[in-house]
Amino acid sequence: MNLHEYQARELLKAAGIPMAEGGVAATPEEAARLAEHIGQTVVVKAQVHAGGRGKAGGVKLAKNPAEARDQASRILGMTIKGLVVQKVLVVPAADIVSECYLGLIMDRESQRPLLMVSPAGGVDIEEVAAKTPEKIHRLAVDPRYGLLPHQALGLALTLYRNFDQVRAAAKIMGQLYQAFMENGGSLAEINPLATTPDGRVVALDAKFVVDDNELDRRADLAALRDESAEAPSEVAARRASLTFIKLDGNVGCVVNGAGLAMATMDLVKYYGGEPANFLDIGGSSNPEKVVNALRIITSDPAVKVILFNIFGGITRTDDVANGIVTATRQFKVDLPIVIRLTGTNEREAVTILQGVGMQALNDMDDAVKRAVALAKEAK
Ligand code: GDP
Ligand code: MN
Repeated sequence: MNLHEYQARELLKAAGIPMAEGGVAATPEEAARLAEHIGQTVVVKAQVHAGGRGKAGGVKLAKNPAEARDQASRILGMTIKGLVVQKVLVVPAADIVSECYLGLIMDRESQRPLLMVSPAGGVDIEEVAAKTPEKIHRLAVDPRYGLLPHQALGLALTLYRNFDQVRAAAKIMGQLYQAFMENGGSLAEINPLATTPDGRVVALDAKFVVDDNELDRRADLAALRDESAEAPSEVAARRASLTFIKLDGNVGCVVNGAGLAMATMDLVKYYGGEPANFLDIGGSSNPEKVVNALRIITSDPAVKVILFNIFGGITRTDDVANGIVTATRQFKVDLPIVIRLTGTNEREAVTILQGVGMQALNDMDDAVKRAVALAKEAK
């Protein structure tokens, strides 16, 4: 789950990372009031789940409350990477001497938290990684010992020459690691970590992604979810307890089990198609889940065909068939539906579907080939 910068800042501040006090505004007037209260030049920053806000015009300096109002009215309502800005953060502006990058991810390769630092901060770190990879220094942290002081100092020495700054940066790395581990982070980033003319090292931006698996045991983190900032289809899927990820293709997939869902997407690609989504209706066979799944998939205008791939184990295929029939009665499904089912209560399922003039296939390859062909015809 993505956090907004203003939420991520609270996690980092709680770990002791130096960040200026600011506030969040949903209207230009609120932004002006915050700027007035702060009483110096401020930065007005778009709060959306996307990086590169600066380049997109979503981060602006304002010298006084009137300017803060103007900038906020420009930024609020603006679209950045498809996301509409609904809130702005207003914080005291810092004078920047240098910009570094600090980031932590949960790394699959080393199976450890991976700390990355770079003196080439401020800009897109992906760009640095592509053009000047030697400017990024990495350390896989052993979670049994945590980030050791000499490791942090070693990394900090690649960023600064002034030893007070080296020490300050090393301390911030330890604090970032602590915030990351304590809050189930899958990514935590400070970019830029800036130095000011008086020599301080301060975090000017904060990004934090919480591992979704952490949310069940941490109501405080789950409460930070901002559904208005998420894709509507993903919100609807989560409410219906479906695991759903929207993709760019046109073959809508309804599958039971994450492994089969992955295999289905692979096969769609293998036969020259593009999946429109990953969707796992889970192990239980509740017809209501099928209805919800169909509602979500048919609401995506890119979808040209719907492919069911159900392997009945605990999932009863007759329940899935009933779900399909119920859905087509509840709302109009204007798209071709290709159904492959096999396993528990398969014969009953076929009878139910035949009762409404639908056909069920038994072979996964046949079903996927047919779905891909139908998607191509529809173009
Ligand atoms: P991002 O583009 O979404 O990563 O947003 P950032 O918070 O990183 O802001 C983008 C850029 O705006 C930074 O790299 C800085 O150059 C600039 N910026 C952000 N905060 C300040 C500030 O307090 N003072 C000044 N002068 N520039 C800032
Ligand atoms: Mn940034």
